[in-house]
Amino acid sequence: MAKTESLRNRAPTIVVIGAGMTGLLAAIRFKEEGYQHVYVFEKASTLGGTWRENTYPGVACDIPSHMYTYSFAPNPEWNNLFARGDEIQSYLMNVARSRGVLESIRFNEGVSSCVLQSGKWHVTTTKGLEVQADFVMNCTGILHHPAFPDIPGLDDFKGKKFHTAQWDHSYDLKGKKVGIIGTGSTAAQVIPELAKAVNHLTVFQRTPQWIMHLPNKVFTEGIKSHFRKSPFSLNAIRSIETWNISNLLTKAVIGRPVQKAILNLSCKANLRLQIKDKTLRKKLTPNYAVGCKRIIVNATFYPAIQRENVLLETEGIERFVEDGIQTKDGNVHKLDCVVLSTGFHAKNYMRPTQVFGRNGLDINDAWKDKVRTYRSVCLPEFPNNFLMLGPNSPIGNFSVIAISEVQINYVAKLIARWCTGEFDLIEPRQDAVEEFTRYMKKGMKNTAWTGGCQSWYLDQEGDPILWPYTWQEWEKQMSTPDFSHFNMQKIPATAAKKVQAKQVA
Ligand code: NAP
Repeated sequence: MAKTESLRNRAPTIVVIGAGMTGLLAAIRFKEEGYQHVYVFEKASTLGGTWRENTYPGVACDIPSHMYTYSFAPNPEWNNLFARGDEIQSYLMNVARSRGVLESIRFNEGVSSCVLQSGKWHVTTTKGLEVQADFVMNCTGILHHPAFPDIPGLDDFKGKKFHTAQWDHSYDLKGKKVGIIGTGSTAAQVIPELAKAVNHLTVFQRTPQWIMHLPNKVFTEGIKSHFRKSPFSLNAIRSIETWNISNLLTKAVIGRPVQKAILNLSCKANLRLQIKDKTLRKKLTPNYAVGCKRIIVNATFYPAIQRENVLLETEGIERFVEDGIQTKDGNVHKLDCVVLSTGFHAKNYMRPTQVFGRNGLDINDAWKDKVRTYRSVCLPEFPNNFLMLGPNSPIGNFSVIAISEVQINYVAKLIARWCTGEFDLIEPRQDAVEEFTRYMKKGMKNTAWTGGCQSWYLDQEGDPILWPYTWQEWEKQMSTPDFSHFNMQKIPATAAKKVQAKQVA
């Protein structure tokens, strides 16, 4: 990563919330910038975010591994095209160690509140520490608050139940009758593993999904050895993967006709070729556009759903009962264990951390109707407070690592300008935010996400929270901040002085 060039008259104090993939990136970037006062708070006892939390059987990343890698830390050691969750977790740990940021992360210390006062962010942690920061980086991820289904009688069920993100590894599945609710990306990975482990598996499907067939190629020792010796090849595979995703998958879901046709054909052919039984195929056929929900990239779900010990139940759930799940036809499925693969509250972002911006504005009020941002990262009314992987980042089927690298470069440029002393607070102008919102809405018309389905992609107003243009366009637009779109404010010295400096241990 290149250090941002600027005339430095002062050094910022920065609070980074979260030590997942984005928080780690921010910590590394700010270290390379030479910023000495960077506090990284992590609520858990170790880093890794989603890869720490999700340990369900089969957990893997469905973005190709060499693309799901920091550009500055290529990894010849990936075992598969789609890396396992624990491998990614180890990779993140190794990067944190080798980049010298691990020691600086304050584990078991979350951030409870951030309050803007006299030009500084007063950040309070769960251990009662207070930091006066010039900038706050919300690196809190998007998919980490498990969503539990609003199905009646959830607590009446006397058997075992847990969410996929809170897997209970002490529970022995062998010989058990298990039910799983949900058929999203997580379920598609866990169902094949569950089917192998349990006596019987009932899959409760509310909505079928489109699935793209891509087997998880193994990188043999020979291939890995080649990658170790040849940085060129390592770079080449990353470039090829990035080209494929950005020019095929991304363009298909934003509505480019040729790519869309290829994706349609690929998912429909996959269903047709893999599911021979017509009744089962009908149950597995979605009634919405391919790509409307996140495309599932998987080669094991269809074989698993056809196993003798697996039942696909599409009747609809009426309620939980003491010993299982009752479907709408009155049938009771007796179960020992229910796995909830019911997704996440994707729009919480940094919440439940309390955030109070200009004039004491509560983030919950600011975002009551809609999460408004400027270019995903900048928050109106919350100056110097940045959001990684915010709404309208190209988070569909793209590498969130690549996305975060673009975003951290953008933020680094804003902070570098602050270092010159030109302003104390920077926030997007209202008209720029409105213009950005209009630009997003305009692009959504042709996308697959408005293709008649419900998904976590949609916000309260039914607008997709994704980037509706190409990856190339996004990179271009994020390459340099347009400072005319920001209000920049100097805080009079007297106001700043009123704030008592508190030293951090
Ligand atoms: P999800 O895509 O939101 O899927 C949730 C599933 O639960 C859906 O099938 C949903 O049905 C079902 N559901 C929710 N409430 C229900 C209810 N009350 N009754 C019946 N069914 C209910 O969640 P996810 O599978 O955990 O995936 C979330 C995201 O995590 C993915 O889109 C992806 O971005 C990420 N992820 C990534 C990977 C990866 O490999 N990179 C792997 C796993 C997850 P409906 O469809 O009817 O709503």
